[in-house]
Amino acid sequence: MNERDSEIIAQTLADNGYFPASTMAGADLVILNTCSVRAKAEQKVMSLLGALRKAKRERPEMRICVAGCVAQQEGRRIIERMPHVDLVLGTQQIYRLPELLAQAVAGGARSVTDLVDDYAIPRFLPAATGTGATAPLEESCRFRKFVTIMQGCNNYCTYCVVPYTRGREVSRRVDDIVDEISLLVAGGVKEITLLGQNVNSYGRTNPVHSRADYGFADLLRAVAAIPGLARLRFTTSNPKDLDEALIRCFAEIDTLCPQFHLPVQAGSDRILARMHRRYTVADYLEKVDKLRQHCPAIALTTDIIVGFPGEREEDFAATLSLLERVRFHGSFSFKYSDRPGTRACLLDGKIAEEVKAERLARFQARQDQISLERNRQYVDQELAVLLEEVTIDGGRGRTGTNHLVHFSTPLPHRPGDIILARITQAGQHSLQGRSAD
Ligand code: SF4
Repeated sequence: MNERDSEIIAQTLADNGYFPASTMAGADLVILNTCSVRAKAEQKVMSLLGALRKAKRERPEMRICVAGCVAQQEGRRIIERMPHVDLVLGTQQIYRLPELLAQAVAGGARSVTDLVDDYAIPRFLPAATGTGATAPLEESCRFRKFVTIMQGCNNYCTYCVVPYTRGREVSRRVDDIVDEISLLVAGGVKEITLLGQNVNSYGRTNPVHSRADYGFADLLRAVAAIPGLARLRFTTSNPKDLDEALIRCFAEIDTLCPQFHLPVQAGSDRILARMHRRYTVADYLEKVDKLRQHCPAIALTTDIIVGFPGEREEDFAATLSLLERVRFHGSFSFKYSDRPGTRACLLDGKIAEEVKAERLARFQARQDQISLERNRQYVDQELAVLLEEVTIDGGRGRTGTNHLVHFSTPLPHRPGDIILARITQAGQHSLQGRSAD
């Protein structure tokens, strides 16, 4: 979501005559687009803002803007403590950056962080070339693009800041999404990832289509019908909202990649209830089994939080059992950290740092073994790979299952080509292959 927001910011600025500076030291405008989902990311922002104080003293004409979730949550504190910051831009304001920056420079509001419940995502189309000639950040992945389909979340999981930093859930209109993707595909984009905090509830909170019951599975079918789109993905989903209609899409839509990131967070029902996830381990496993029935090749990944308040050794053991049962292709696992303003901050039973670290290490060690075992099953298979980079002596690209494949022999292809690759070696986090075309 942050990456996509950065692209939107870059395009909005490019449309207003800005172009990227090669270094921060030479920039007229520095924007920190921030994430507060974990404490570490937030600390990095604060220390970078401290460093920018000195830069601004040397070049007072430099403008500094803080955007994203830290801006949304800490805006007042940033403005009070950091007079060198010109503008704090809330998450619902990114499309208005040039206008708000001009106002701030002229002595107007320096912090605009209103979150309104009836927010509508503006109609926003890519630059005319489709691949974003005026939006330099987009060049880094010209053939794979993120497209926002919704913003915010109504779920209020107890550990999560998103409902407070991104606001209530709002879905974007179907026509706007299809128009944006059609332009991107016409400009050469091959793969689209639909983005939202909980894509499964797309269309449930505000009208997106003339049909009142239009949902995420309908949107997937509409996007898949865009001529020239080779690959379609989405992220992220709350398992409680994963329904049959979406599961069927994996069997019925050819361009939908066999990959699903389905965050489970914990393998203990007691902890899931304390997290307010509103599903049980049995519910989750039932959905995993159905996904695998409909799409046997599907690669499943997940998110795990270890050391959630109140997590006992037996709860953590249940998370390890879940890992053994599902054998995820990969996972993003983290130690729980208190996020200010969330309900989990107030829960008792906080876990000591060293216990969290030890549990995380145990989980990750086992996940690494499983990832390697799973990846080895691809050796000698021929897989379609979308090439992202081609160099004089090789290149890299991604499979439909979202595995990174490295090539170390010359490729008679160009970036953006989808080639057949024979997998020759497997590592924990990537594969090696050679062209089989
Ligand atoms: S569903 Fe996801 S984004 Fe929404 S509150 Fe829960 S963890 Fe946060």
